[in-house]
Amino acid sequence: MSAVEKKDLLYKGKAKSVYTTDDPDHLILVFRDDTSAFDGKRVEQLSRKGAVNNQFNAFIMERLSEAGIPTHFTKLLGPNESVVKKMSMMPIECVVRNRAAGSLVRRLGLEEGMVLSPPTFELFYKDDALGDPMVNESLAQTFGWATADQIARAKELTFEVNDILKDLFDQGDLVLVDFKLEFGLFNGEVMLGDEFSPDGCRLWDKETLKKLDKDRFRQGLGDVIEGYEEVARRIKVPLDLV
Ligand code: ADP
Ligand code: UDP
Repeated sequence: MSAVEKKDLLYKGKAKSVYTTDDPDHLILVFRDDTSAFDGKRVEQLSRKGAVNNQFNAFIMERLSEAGIPTHFTKLLGPNESVVKKMSMMPIECVVRNRAAGSLVRRLGLEEGMVLSPPTFELFYKDDALGDPMVNESLAQTFGWATADQIARAKELTFEVNDILKDLFDQGDLVLVDFKLEFGLFNGEVMLGDEFSPDGCRLWDKETLKKLDKDRFRQGLGDVIEGYEEVARRIKVPLDLV
């Protein structure tokens, strides 16, 4: 692929800006320092976040790709920017949980940290105004968000990602509690899109259960990006923040 340059801003999301390029099959994702929670109702700037998440995501996407997961990730372009395949995104979030936390604890009145065996799989409809409501395969098909086959493939890939990443984080003495993935279609194939970073998962220290993910922001615990950097250091993500 030749040099890729940003053309037009296609979409400005809560954390990333998406640009078209000269190549119709590729986009540039710019990871910003904006940090949001509660469906965008709280937004703050956290220094270094864009660069940490971009480089963290690149590392994870490369590990997943090596393990056979089809992903949109093409290459790192700069500290805050990556080139990805331009996909038609399914407007749904796939969530797998290995331990109870967050909305599952609230919904079912569970104790945080309860081990979930087998791990759970949930779908949420991506719509901030509606607060990303929980949905299911039937609703996704009826409303044309994805076909039954596409959902089955996304679910299969999400569980494969869980197996790969549980091991990877375990090597850094971290528990992968839960995470969210987004999938899209590229030439008709379901591929992993968006990002995998501490913004979209829960990671706890194996011994102390200290939170090292976005819950530090949601719960006002402080040292949010320091937590992300600690995770990066433990799993040997090379961070180059200049
Ligand atoms: P949000 O839309 O939730 O505010 P972001 O700020 O992360 O999220 O914005 C990034 C947007 O880019 C998301 O809507 C995501 O679905 C979309 N996206 C991610 N990867 C791709 C891709 N490969 N092709 C097209 N769109 C993508
Ligand atoms: N998640 C996400 N984006 C969302 C909603 C959830 O990345 O819009 C991630 C979240 O970080 C966690 C997992 O998905 O790792 C499960 O989130 P949950 O349903 O518990 O919701 P929360 O309580 O985090 O809002």
